Amino acid sequence: MSLSFEEVKKLKENAEIKTQAFINGKYADSLDGDTFDKVSPIDGKVIAKIASCKQADVDLAVSAARQAYEKGVWSDITPEQRKNILYAFANLVEAHHMELATLETMDMGKPISNSIGEIRRCFNGIRWFAEAIDKLYGAVATTRPSINAQIVREPYGVVAAIIPWNYPLMMAVWKFAPALAAGNSVVLKPAEQSPLTLLRIAEFAKQAGIPDGVFNVVPGYGETAGQALALHMDVDKITFTGSSEVGKLIMQYSGLSNMKRVSLECGGKCPNIVFPDAYDLDDVAKQTAGAMFYNSGQVCDSPTRLLIHKSIKESFLKKLIEYSKEYMPKNPLDPACSMGSVVTGEQMERILNYIEIGKAEGAKLKMGGKQVLCESGGYYVEPTIFSDVNNNMRIAQEEIFGPVLSVIEFETEEEAIEIANDSIYGLCAFVWTSDLKKAVSLSKKLKCGKILINSTGDGDWSVPHGGFKQSGFGRDKSIESIEQYTQTKLTWIEL
Ligand code: ADP
Repeated sequence: MSLSFEEVKKLKENAEIKTQAFINGKYADSLDGDTFDKVSPIDGKVIAKIASCKQADVDLAVSAARQAYEKGVWSDITPEQRKNILYAFANLVEAHHMELATLETMDMGKPISNSIGEIRRCFNGIRWFAEAIDKLYGAVATTRPSINAQIVREPYGVVAAIIPWNYPLMMAVWKFAPALAAGNSVVLKPAEQSPLTLLRIAEFAKQAGIPDGVFNVVPGYGETAGQALALHMDVDKITFTGSSEVGKLIMQYSGLSNMKRVSLECGGKCPNIVFPDAYDLDDVAKQTAGAMFYNSGQVCDSPTRLLIHKSIKESFLKKLIEYSKEYMPKNPLDPACSMGSVVTGEQMERILNYIEIGKAEGAKLKMGGKQVLCESGGYYVEPTIFSDVNNNMRIAQEEIFGPVLSVIEFETEEEAIEIANDSIYGLCAFVWTSDLKKAVSLSKKLKCGKILINSTGDGDWSVPHGGFKQSGFGRDKSIESIEQYTQTKLTWIEL
């Protein structure tokens, strides 16, 4: 769709900003009336004051979710009814998708064209999970003939989801769509940096027919609203996407409270291994730049470590730098923008600090490295490339979550595998080669939850996403994710 800057500005003027929590089917202030400032990273200006939920608000939301669950207003209706309601919800998200995309861009600074694509994936995702509801069966075990042993999947009850800021609505859909499809009630906490789209769609959930109490949104800080959810004695399952540090805390909170089930999708430092026999090195360079600087590098499966074969290092780097120039930051509301701001001033400082660390560690800065568009008041960092990086350096080991690429050289396949696996993370690895045997061999040896061969995108609802090692456990998307919002029950019948 071709859209002009003027049209986007109009969308911005008309976008509806919801500032209150959504609990038991109603928007409401936080009980103590407290709010936090929502700053737009586009220009550093406060665009809203959002309800800052605390323990008491979380208690209300969890209690509403529990009551709805126990009454069976969602969990006990027919699968077809649940499916129809989720379809109606998806239709409302679709009907408002341009407004939602604009809110997403205002909230966290991603290019409007990317926001539109992502919101489309959101309503398609809700439909995907709606459609799956009555396709999941239980089992009858192969016992002796005098027994009938049924194994069925039941929802947990109350599912809490703590959402990150990099894909504010999409990460929420990854969690609430399968959780609702399975019959649970949900309490969602958006990141304090990016609550706008999730708060906006709460009323669509109600309009679509999701009963009061089944869909709740509690905006607030991680240390208050987030922690209260994770420590809550009446939350049955918590699903989290964010940093590994906070992921570890969530596990502790579970142990300190009611052993609520936990699934975590945490950080990544994903290797992108390019062999000289890749089918088209020019296209690989183009795709590498696109994947690396998408969302300003604020993506857990960004290809942040480029492992390049020594024989093609210089020529590939030249191409890569050329393609990366296309990602010089612009105002993300401009449809011509391919890389916008980073999410906050704090995140920008963190990224700039890592760039200084990279220089001090002796890596060669080949491109970028600076804050730009300072006059806008927003938070913009150039696409940045370091070469001659050693995998022991902090810029190769730590997740920067910004537009900073580390280029590491290798000579043999074994060396590439060793470097790729030398990480506390294990989310994703990319491999570029036209040798199928080599590709399959690498995919077996790389310790990651997903391996992308000759591709940078696995944006399909049918495949699981999640990590090995400190990238977390549990899977989002795919049928596996619905299963993770259920627990099995055995009914053993002596006939
Ligand atoms: P980042 O460092 O990229 O902002 P975080 O892991 O801090 O990522 O945040 C991801 C989500 O976790 C956000 O919704 C945030 O509010 C929440 N969060 C942060 N700290 C805590 C905490 N101590 N307990 C529960 N949730 C938290």
